[in-house]
Amino acid sequence: MDLETQYCAHNYHPLPVVLTRGEGVFVWDDAGKKYLDMMSAYSAVSHGHANPRLVRLVQRQVARLTIVSRAFHSDTLGPFLARACQLTGQDMALPMNTGAEAVETAIKAARKWAYTVKGVPHDKAEILGCDGNFHGRTIAAVAMSDEPQYQHGFGPFPPGFLNVAYGDIDALADAINDNTAAFIVEPIQGEGGIVLPPPGYLKAAAGLCRKNNVLFIADEIQTGLGRTGKFLACEHDDVKPDALILGKALGGGVLPVSMFLARRDVMEVFTPGDHGSTFGGNPLGAAVGLEALNILVDDDLAANSAAMGDYLLTRLRAISCPLIRDVRGKGLFAGIDIDPAYASARSVCEGLMKRGLLSKETHETVVRLAPPLIIKKAEIDWAITQISEVLDELDKVRLAS
Ligand SMILES: *Cc1c(COP(=O)(O)O)cnc(C)c1O
Repeated sequence: MDLETQYCAHNYHPLPVVLTRGEGVFVWDDAGKKYLDMMSAYSAVSHGHANPRLVRLVQRQVARLTIVSRAFHSDTLGPFLARACQLTGQDMALPMNTGAEAVETAIKAARKWAYTVKGVPHDKAEILGCDGNFHGRTIAAVAMSDEPQYQHGFGPFPPGFLNVAYGDIDALADAINDNTAAFIVEPIQGEGGIVLPPPGYLKAAAGLCRKNNVLFIADEIQTGLGRTGKFLACEHDDVKPDALILGKALGGGVLPVSMFLARRDVMEVFTPGDHGSTFGGNPLGAAVGLEALNILVDDDLAANSAAMGDYLLTRLRAISCPLIRDVRGKGLFAGIDIDPAYASARSVCEGLMKRGLLSKETHETVVRLAPPLIIKKAEIDWAITQISEVLDELDKVRLAS
């Protein structure tokens, strides 16, 4: 911790725990203490730590072929992208590494599609996003953000980004004009505090986009791949997006693997030399991504997420404590909104850590609960006990002060 404090940029505020090992839903610290991981690296570890199938696959592929760049073909990229397209109903995919890069790819695709297919005048394309969004930390992604801290000190920002209120279909209708290229939306806002739009919003938004020849792009980097109880969160609203962004769990908790997927007429705007990434689509990442997708399907992790998520939310909603302002979520993607007048979400996470449960606050008020999708009922029961007791303790502190 001292070395990180001295040598690592202070761009995070980690909980004071040093992790050395992980297996399934558990991680262990340097003193051998065991924790239930209800954070899963912001939903990147959906398959569980050291998933045996992924460990075997990585060991095999690492010794066989790892990186060749897209200057050549590899025998793992095609099968990976074919499987991703088949499972999502998209026509083509462009592989990247981190989520932010895949978001950049989506923005570039939407702009070039607007100029070459839709007929928007040169440099006039507009991308619509939502208030409270999170699409990563690149300059374009923070240009879309309305969170002051994400932008402060990093300007100037590229033009062509506009936001509308999340969940407000009239606001979207008002904002669309002839130059609108795309609407980029998270089916559930994760970093924004596990915020669900009204039922039917995504369907109405997709319909509005179709009517106006605007691309409906779902950022499912966090909500996708079973996290909310369906393979894609858009399925809850019966929506098939024109384009889709995946990341996080796509790398099986092993590597950064992301991709932008789209309809053929959108993806075909890219020609050789337009866009790329040295590591995007590398043989190791592609092999890991394919195995990660296959495990999700073979083990039906989305179904476990739906069942265990319902159970988690029911148990959370049954906790009676004045500190809780709201409990929100879908599948194993839950947030406890803590009343800031009484306690901070950080203090709840610190209390949970002492009891062997790891989670992290998002913004100041929400405790996020997003365990690996392989979690079992008994583990949720244990977590509920810890959460209730920590909330009780904090309530007693509040009443005593
Ligand atoms: C995490 C996240 C990103 C950014 O992904 P990185 O891998 O951190 O660059 C983008 N969009 C959403 C919805 C995310 O949750």
